[in-house]
Amino acid sequence: MIIDSHVHLKHGDANRTEYSAETIVYTMDAVGIDVSVVFAMSTSTRRSIEMALEAYRRSPDRLIPYVYAIPSFERPVNEEIKEAVVRLGFKGVKIHAGEYTIAEYVVDPVVELAEKFEVPCLIDCVGRISDVKRMAEKFPKAKIVVAHFGKYLSADEKLIDQFINLASTHENVYLDTSGVVLTHKIREAIQRIGSNHIVFGTDGPHEEPDTVSFAKKELEKIKSLKLNPTDEENILGKNILRILKI
Ligand SMILES: [Zn+2]
Repeated sequence: MIIDSHVHLKHGDANRTEYSAETIVYTMDAVGIDVSVVFAMSTSTRRSIEMALEAYRRSPDRLIPYVYAIPSFERPVNEEIKEAVVRLGFKGVKIHAGEYTIAEYVVDPVVELAEKFEVPCLIDCVGRISDVKRMAEKFPKAKIVVAHFGKYLSADEKLIDQFINLASTHENVYLDTSGVVLTHKIREAIQRIGSNHIVFGTDGPHEEPDTVSFAKKELEKIKSLKLNPTDEENILGKNILRILKI
């Protein structure tokens, strides 16, 4: 089974691009992806719940909803996150350091909640390894999935190595392959820490060149490593199923 662990209903790009459940499932069908984790960002937590819930209700067998955690001056967002996880069946929390600080006084209540309810946090930390390390150590049972092996489209081998080191020394840290351009680092990570802490994601949909070709390229990146079947199955689906307790 192939599971895409990182798909946007709404992106954080300049245009705040949105994609419907139909487009996402159409793309999955064309590429051969069975299930996708979906979430919206660049919006409020409440709106992210509405968007993911609507998508999930359209394709409950294909889409897994995550709630987006973003602080609000208007209301206690953690209550909304808790409701999404406990009552609405959301399976994870998306955190993005591009829209707000992930300093402890902001993000720790969210990670604590995720730890308590045993759902993963998918974190785009924009390269801030010390913040992720601190979270992983303060909440050792919180499952922390670091998007993009630490930093989107990073060509900084040393930085990526630091994130691989972090996953090697912290049982609760996982790395997602979306937006990783140093493909050989994925192989190195498998050699160093095994395949259990690496999950496949596309970070799609993207129109360049089109949603299908974009997702295909991300999947082909993993296939091109010519891993043994066990490692490939772990990365393409089994690991995220285990993380999500599905
Ligand atoms: Zn993303």
